[in-house]
Amino acid sequence: MKLAAASATDQGRVRGNNEDAFLVDDDRALFAVADGMGGHRGGEVASHTAIEALRAAVANGTPLHDAITRANLAVLARAAGDDELTGMGTTLTAIVAIGGRQLLIGHVGDSRAYLLHNGELHRATDDHSLVEELVREGRLTPEQAESHPQRAIVTRALGVDDDVDVDLYTLEVDAGDRVVLCSDGLTTMVRERDIERLARSEPDPQSLADAFVRAANDAGGEDNITVVVIDVLEVDTPAPPDPATLLDDETTPGSRSAVIAPPDPPEPPVPKEPRAKGSRRRTVRNAILVLLPLLLIVGAATAALGWYARSSYFVGVSGNEVVIYKGVPGGVLGWNPTVDHRTGLTVSELSPLDRDRVQTNNSRGSLTTAQQYVDRLEASVTTTTTTTTTAPSTTTTSVKPRTTTTKAP
Ligand code: MN
Repeated sequence: MKLAAASATDQGRVRGNNEDAFLVDDDRALFAVADGMGGHRGGEVASHTAIEALRAAVANGTPLHDAITRANLAVLARAAGDDELTGMGTTLTAIVAIGGRQLLIGHVGDSRAYLLHNGELHRATDDHSLVEELVREGRLTPEQAESHPQRAIVTRALGVDDDVDVDLYTLEVDAGDRVVLCSDGLTTMVRERDIERLARSEPDPQSLADAFVRAANDAGGEDNITVVVIDVLEVDTPAPPDPATLLDDETTPGSRSAVIAPPDPPEPPVPKEPRAKGSRRRTVRNAILVLLPLLLIVGAATAALGWYARSSYFVGVSGNEVVIYKGVPGGVLGWNPTVDHRTGLTVSELSPLDRDRVQTNNSRGSLTTAQQYVDRLEASVTTTTTTTTTAPSTTTTSVKPRTTTTKAP
């Protein structure tokens, strides 16, 4: 791809200094605009630090997304330990040619990239600003946004956090196309239709860059103005055999969708991969963290159940004989009750209540309580047999037969 680039920067008519920075690296086909913010010299340092870190990273072969991530860390590192620079940040919108007809845009903040294709201007980037987000959410009209008092508030910038979300866009360009990178000092002062008109009417890129600065200053020049104009002179042929691209070219030339691909990076998502790996590792670890206690609980519950099944006793019937069973009536998870010992008592000897209790296995507890219950049964049987054989005692008397026997005779 053959490109011709020009640039211009100006502090405007209001600001005391220029906190914007830009990069035109023809050899690497790398271009960028940064708009710094922060007190004292912070903004200036932030934008220049980011631009230099970006340049160095791309020169080392770092993909654009990673290069911007490194620029972010560079700004943070530069601010660390310097009170005058604390809180500084910067926007960064960068473009690199990646072969064929493709330009790759990496973008953070409210600087912008535009594409002029067939005389029509298309905005290629979304602003990370409060008012633009409100417009996207339908809470502000674009007209309201233009004059909104908080339009300078950015929602994403370098130098704020270790982790920065970088938007990537690919731009399919043709020979004759023109790309404009600019800080908000242009776009807050000059309407898009005027930007389009100038971009269309000024053939020389340097003249255009200067014209943009002049127009912004003529409109008040309230902010620093920085512009990089990149003319696409030639694209690499043959283009990669992408059927979608061919279709776009032939059927819908000049339409926005045909020219500006959605922000879907064809670049290998290098920074995303470690993040994905990290989260996968985290998922596995989380699964273990969840499963381990679960397994322990299940194991403990099984053991407790087994212990319960084997350590409890109840009085029941085997054949016609009253016996003490070890276990739980009906069994638990394969632990079936076993006869622990026989009593020699027959069911028919018991009072109706006891018979019922025994036959429904309605007495459960420790071996001691089972033994005590059997003792009471035996006592009641001896009492009833010695006193009278016909009338089994009532419910209440059967419970305390021993006291009656010892005291009555
Ligand atoms: Mn600005």
